[in-house]
Amino acid sequence: MSEKMKFEAEVQQLLHLVINSLYSNRDIFLRELVANAADAIDKARFESLTNPDISAEWEIVIEPNKKKNILKISDNGIGMTHDEVIRDIGTIAKSGTKAYMDSLTGRDVKDAPDLIGQFGVGFYSAFMVAEKIVLISKKAGDNSPAVRWESSGESEYTVSEDSRKEQGTEIHLHMKGDCKSYLEEWKIRELVKKYSDFIAYPIRMPGTEKKSDESASKEREVLNSGKALWLKPASEVSDEEYGRFYSHLSHYDNEPVSRIHYAAEGAMEFNALLFIPSKAPFDLFSPETARKGVLLYIKRVFITDEIGVLLPEYLRFMKGVVESNDLPLNVSREILQDNPQTAKIRKNLVRKILAELKRLFDKEQDKYLKFYKEFKNVLKEGVHTDSQNREQLLDLLLFESLNNEPGKMISLKKYCDAMPPAQKDIYCFFGENKEVMESSPHLEFFKKNKIDVLFMTDSIDEWILGSVNDYAGKKIKIAGKSGLDIDSFVPEEKKKDAEKKNSKYSSFLKRLAEILSPDIKEARFSSALTDSPCCLKADEFSPGPHMERLMKAMHRPMPETKYVLELNSEHSLVSAMADLYEKSPEDPRIKELTEILYDQSLLAEGKPPRNFSLFSKRLSEIMTELIKIKDK
Ligand code: ADP
Repeated sequence: MSEKMKFEAEVQQLLHLVINSLYSNRDIFLRELVANAADAIDKARFESLTNPDISAEWEIVIEPNKKKNILKISDNGIGMTHDEVIRDIGTIAKSGTKAYMDSLTGRDVKDAPDLIGQFGVGFYSAFMVAEKIVLISKKAGDNSPAVRWESSGESEYTVSEDSRKEQGTEIHLHMKGDCKSYLEEWKIRELVKKYSDFIAYPIRMPGTEKKSDESASKEREVLNSGKALWLKPASEVSDEEYGRFYSHLSHYDNEPVSRIHYAAEGAMEFNALLFIPSKAPFDLFSPETARKGVLLYIKRVFITDEIGVLLPEYLRFMKGVVESNDLPLNVSREILQDNPQTAKIRKNLVRKILAELKRLFDKEQDKYLKFYKEFKNVLKEGVHTDSQNREQLLDLLLFESLNNEPGKMISLKKYCDAMPPAQKDIYCFFGENKEVMESSPHLEFFKKNKIDVLFMTDSIDEWILGSVNDYAGKKIKIAGKSGLDIDSFVPEEKKKDAEKKNSKYSSFLKRLAEILSPDIKEARFSSALTDSPCCLKADEFSPGPHMERLMKAMHRPMPETKYVLELNSEHSLVSAMADLYEKSPEDPRIKELTEILYDQSLLAEGKPPRNFSLFSKRLSEIMTELIKIKDK
């Protein structure tokens, strides 16, 4: 009996993409199917440690049949039950995939040959070359009958029973008319060499005529070398081999920015071959990916790729393999993570990775910038979570700044080196981008005095400052807040002038605070502004406006910060208002102007005015007045 079933809407969307848009690199379908087969054997092999019944002579077989126009790929791995086939082949487990697909335009798809690897939808890539796929699978160590799955990649598939008795999976690809070359033995040989040479299990092709054999008897040829590159000394591995291994591991078609290959000796012996990628996967920040990391082998058996075991989560972007013979083979994956021996390996790996990143930072800026652009936010995540390596991570961060041209980024160290002697603290400022931030009234003082300010434009930056208060013995302070030690930059007479005005106009200031109550705490004259009439200053310890916006966007509750309204002691508008108040305190224009000033300073903080229509009405009134004055 066969069941007809419909693909999930997301799968249909994906299949549509695969069938209609992804054909720039069809070759990779074989890499994906062979990788799935190898994963299935990894799983079976791991299981067989405790259940010898499912042990087998592990192999992957690729069998072309030109007459029937079928390419068959089979393995004797873990296999799938009826329910697993429906769950794993009929749906997309990865969260975020739909959103990613929706965001793609036709052009993006063509420009991204490594898309399939990024999606992690390897199996469906077979529909690039096959018009129909039959998958037959029998779960290892399970008594229920084998399952047969069939589909032409449209909206439906059928599932029925099959008579296969051996554990494992076979996939029959009924090739499309223009894909018959994949049935050529030379082509299969070439593709396996190119993409799957490092698979640890033999990939065989039956029925191959061995050229060396005079009798031309047909034998099964092993197509891959199965070399464990990570166990070889680095001097014996060519760049090309590294490149192919990276592509095999990552499913990306781009070059890594760097590799780290070493054999650790001493208390803990292991071999590691790691790659620092140059491109972030689309789902770097989805919890799903966060679970996958560098592969751990123990005595040639694949144990786990769960992140957290070998590397902390923030290094989840690393690709690679680590093999240790010192870890016990039967240890469970969960226990592994807490094992002190694994902790030693983890510490060693992190040290090596951070040292390599620092080397790139110091010696190969171009490469480092390429990496940084893609992965800065995970490094920042590390600053927050990896307190042991915080200093090293901080040294890897780069920021745009007030004194540097757009696009040029500097490190905290460089910032400190350029600080004038009178400057005690490191100043940073949060906002959307350099252009917007530069025009903020908060930075007028810094601009005028040529004090540099680091621009923090990523949402995660404010979280970092939650865990980092200082760098190299200097406090990190936010330029838009009060409590800054910048007094020494203000000329004495300017300071005196502001103080004088604060006492002279104290009742005017009180009146402003009254008008704007309860939105502001107080109003006062300041010597720190040069162009703008006023600005809003938050307390040193209160969350800034950028953080408030973020929390709002995340629908998190946040106590409203009360600001101080700082008035520019030298601005003609402010002086005129103060004088007007002195002359006629009841003049209604005082209130109107104060309300507009406040809304204006909200705007300068990137916040909306309190009442859009009222704000706009007040502006029109002023404009009308202005025209009247001009007409006179
Ligand atoms: P991915 O390999 O990234 O998970 P795929 O679409 O290639 O995505 O495969 C989906 C799932 O189907 C796999 O995770 C696995 O559980 C199952 N699967 C695919 N091929 C095989 C196979 N040859 N043997 C056993 N299970 C398989």
